[in-house]
Amino acid sequence: MTAVQPKPTPVGETFDSLNPATDEVVGTYAVHTADEVRAAVERARGAALWWEGLGYVGRAERLQRWKGVLTRRLPQLCQAVRDETGKPLRDAQLESVLAIEHISWAAKHARKVLGRQRRSAGLLMANQAATVEYRPLGVVGVIGPWNYPVYTPLGSITYALAAGNAVVFKPSEYTPGVGKWLVDAFAEIVPEQPVLQLITGFGETGGALVGAGVDKVAFTGSTATGKKIMAAAANTLTPVVIEAGGKDPLLVDVDADLDAAADATVWGAFSNSGQTCIGVERAYVHERVYDDFVAKVVEKAKDVRAGSDAAAQYGPVTMPSQLGVIRRHIADAVERGGKALVGGVDSVDDRYAQPTVLVDVPEDAEAVREETFGPTVTIAKVRDMDEAIEKANATKYGLGSTVFSKSRGVALASRLRAGMTSINAPLSFAGIASLPFGGVGESGFGRIHGPEGLREFSRPKAVARQRFTAPITLTSFNRKA
Ligand code: NAD
Repeated sequence: MTAVQPKPTPVGETFDSLNPATDEVVGTYAVHTADEVRAAVERARGAALWWEGLGYVGRAERLQRWKGVLTRRLPQLCQAVRDETGKPLRDAQLESVLAIEHISWAAKHARKVLGRQRRSAGLLMANQAATVEYRPLGVVGVIGPWNYPVYTPLGSITYALAAGNAVVFKPSEYTPGVGKWLVDAFAEIVPEQPVLQLITGFGETGGALVGAGVDKVAFTGSTATGKKIMAAAANTLTPVVIEAGGKDPLLVDVDADLDAAADATVWGAFSNSGQTCIGVERAYVHERVYDDFVAKVVEKAKDVRAGSDAAAQYGPVTMPSQLGVIRRHIADAVERGGKALVGGVDSVDDRYAQPTVLVDVPEDAEAVREETFGPTVTIAKVRDMDEAIEKANATKYGLGSTVFSKSRGVALASRLRAGMTSINAPLSFAGIASLPFGGVGESGFGRIHGPEGLREFSRPKAVARQRFTAPITLTSFNRKA
């Protein structure tokens, strides 16, 4: 079987979206030009004022109705996801249900988080009433990836809308159909104004959105593209949120529940074909439990299989060019002394990558340093948890992380240089709407989800109101009578 990559077409034309499991064309979309993108942003300006005018209660009511539509039509939404990613039904359901939960959370909490709040004026300014409120930014441009085409963009779109902004959304060129589905459902609930608009195309269309005068860009995708977007946004001092790649570690302490840790490693590394920004890519294991842990991971990994049949645990590699990266990382690791206990280069064909478990890989190999974004994991033995922390933190990334420890999970989590950590469960932080989501280092900056996500799409407005006229204040000259 030969995998086919969507063909970039010249600006002003159309492109086909393909099912990566079958190569079937599942939709044809416009490649929007820079002029069309600018026009969408202009339309969004008027819509933003109208949407802001609805107030917290009006917006929350519409957002909850949008959530209702998505929930009732979950089977169609999941089908749209499966058509463009090839992922199994339960994975499409998981990302959709988690994303829908964010709509509800943001709608319920926007007023409390962003509404007017009193601050202490201090003794020197005791005649002032001090307040802060969080105002909408205006128009937010959201640029999304393909790996979680519902969960990922909705993590920005939902919070930007709940904060009172209009949104222009460019989904990945691999998943435009899912993007259109979400935007069409919103337009049914908010038919009056183009509060959430879709633009489609490739990197050029995304670049046009960055330069179209939006008030903020929320980007989720690779670190390489994040750097380009930040450089382009610097021309107009457009603020950006960058949610980029990762090389997430999992730490196994001497007292960890090894079965649970092995399950977490297998699921965290292989689910969604390893195409998860917060997927487990490296494991650091205390030397006293290393052999047992490795044996358990190997045993469990042998039961996991990629394929398109109902019994397969995960589907194809969506982006065919990634197959080469996965092969290269495995080959380099093995050439440099690593051993593939499960899988190996030959387990990657032109569409599917079967699980690979690598041990004895040098820490400076690509498989340890660079995001593989495939179903591979490296396991390394460490003397103690200080060494585990040191090695886990020795990365340019810093997105998610996981710790398995019965006695000191919280203390170890605090020492991990990562935006998020889950303890004794894999990636659980991603399922909690109230927690901020984002990374450090080359994993990006800014936060989506939770109160931090609402504030990310707002500007704080400070107001000081004179309560009574004092004879002498810090803001008047002391005139003699
Ligand atoms: P990508 O960077 O190739 O593309 C992401 C989006 O950016 C697409 O819509 C693309 O069309 C657009 N784009 C490309 N070039 C652009 C440019 N110059 N200007 C503006 N837009 C441009 O990423 P991808 O392959 O779609 O997604 C996979 C990557 O996303 C992985 O690295 C993964 O770790 C990361 N990711 C991160 C998170 C997170 O929350 N941190 C979540 C999901 C995925």
